[in-house]
Amino acid sequence: MRNIDHYIGGQSVVSGSRTSPVFDPNAGIVQAEVRLGDAATLEQAVAAARAAQPAWAATNPQRRARVMFKFKELVEAEIDDLARILSSEHGKVLADSKGDIQRGLEVIEFCCGIPHVLKGEFTHGAGPGIDIWAHRLPIGIGAGITPFNFPAMIPMWMAGVAIATGNAFILKPSERDPTLPVRLGDLFKRAGLPDGIFAVVNGDKEMVDAIIAHPDIAAISFVGSSDIAQYIYGQGTANGKRVQAMGGAKNHAVVMPDADLDAVVRDLAGAAFGSAGERCMALPVVVPVGEATAEALRARLLPAIAKLRLGVSTDPEADYGPVVSAAHKARIEDYIAMGVAEGAELVVDGRGYTLQGHEGGWFVGPTLFDHVKQGMRSYEEEIFGPVLQIVRAADFEEALRLPSEHQYGNGVAIFTRNGHAAREFAARVNVGMVGINVPIPVPVAYHSFGGWKRSAFGDIGQHGMEGVQFWTKRKTMTGRWPDGGVGETGSAFVIPTMG
Ligand code: NAD
Repeated sequence: MRNIDHYIGGQSVVSGSRTSPVFDPNAGIVQAEVRLGDAATLEQAVAAARAAQPAWAATNPQRRARVMFKFKELVEAEIDDLARILSSEHGKVLADSKGDIQRGLEVIEFCCGIPHVLKGEFTHGAGPGIDIWAHRLPIGIGAGITPFNFPAMIPMWMAGVAIATGNAFILKPSERDPTLPVRLGDLFKRAGLPDGIFAVVNGDKEMVDAIIAHPDIAAISFVGSSDIAQYIYGQGTANGKRVQAMGGAKNHAVVMPDADLDAVVRDLAGAAFGSAGERCMALPVVVPVGEATAEALRARLLPAIAKLRLGVSTDPEADYGPVVSAAHKARIEDYIAMGVAEGAELVVDGRGYTLQGHEGGWFVGPTLFDHVKQGMRSYEEEIFGPVLQIVRAADFEEALRLPSEHQYGNGVAIFTRNGHAAREFAARVNVGMVGINVPIPVPVAYHSFGGWKRSAFGDIGQHGMEGVQFWTKRKTMTGRWPDGGVGETGSAFVIPTMG
């Protein structure tokens, strides 16, 4: 059996007495064992980071950017192999795995411009002979704790910005698909990153709690489910750390009566069922406005769903592959049963799906519910599977209210040809990321990512300028060079003003 070890100080490290199985969801079999680290494992990573970080912080930003350039080239050269590894542990189809890696690389591309971003601020003559300048310094050692569903993109969101700004970064990836995150260590090393600046410590709650408790870790970036996000935010900030913790989601697509329904159905098929719905920016809820829109949309969705093709992740014709684990398949199917029990109409039932020749794989067929209502648990909670729920709204105001009142506020989309409706919706909806005729409104790397409400704890987003803000601390200098030397003006007993 293949073992997946930690990556510390520029090499593979065996540490910790427990292991956890890593499955191939296409076949439902164990393909490797990942070693689960403990506080002693983390201590090794922190010691290596402590030794390497001051010199890395003192390395000029242009040289740090060159490592990012080289890393990008190496990942691009190996993208086929990396996508194959990713798909074999996650289950998403190869093209989608390449997209996962590519979206991560876009953050690395942003990091190639880090010298420009770190130039700082300067005011000449803020007062008589007084200049003020501010610049951003690394926070020191940071940690990232990441979910299973984007094992390349999300580690790169965090590691790229943290490292480019001069920090050491310790990654604790999901124990369900850790091979690719560990490979990032080797790629960073070959790109010229000094040993100790990037580490991967594998583990579960024990490792997460060690990270939260470690006094030398200044910041934690977390992405995962909301209850864990809230726990890490609460414990991390109580320990004096800077924490950003992105949580779960239940994104809505509002469809106005004037929308191009064929385009909506094309977009929805990909956004609701792509990656088996295991995306925090998936669209699992569609809100048609008016009964006529609902009927027309439902009539078009049915043949589109019938055409969806499930397959193993290496099948180039497959629209989506298996879900990540047997437990997750059972959880999704439980939510479908719950929707039925709550009185929603189950239009297409994806339960009990098996793929011929791959009977052990954890496949869930596309599922469609209609007449879903506010208050149903199957609507209020995140399912994270290939399940699309139609919630009919009588008018624009009701359609606006549904995502606004939902506990999650990650993303939302409106489909319309009416600029006024789109503008009103974007302005008033209580959700952090809004798409207008765009189904998955994930901001590009030089903007920042992050939702509202229970989709994000802490108020600084991932990547872009908020990412830079998260991984750095500002220092502001106020300097005076009076004509006759320092101290000629006597004592000031009132607060100095520039007036
Ligand atoms: P998860 O919360 O189970 O795991 C995330 C991380 O937390 C993993 O590294 C895991 O090892 C760790 N963890 C798990 N249980 C823990 C515990 N009890 N204590 C401490 N740490 C623990 O999430 P997942 O199933 O890997 O990922 C799916 C979730 O992530 C979904 O809810 C999805 O919406 C969310 N997600 C959110 C975003 C976003 O940006 N908002 C992006 C991607 C995924």
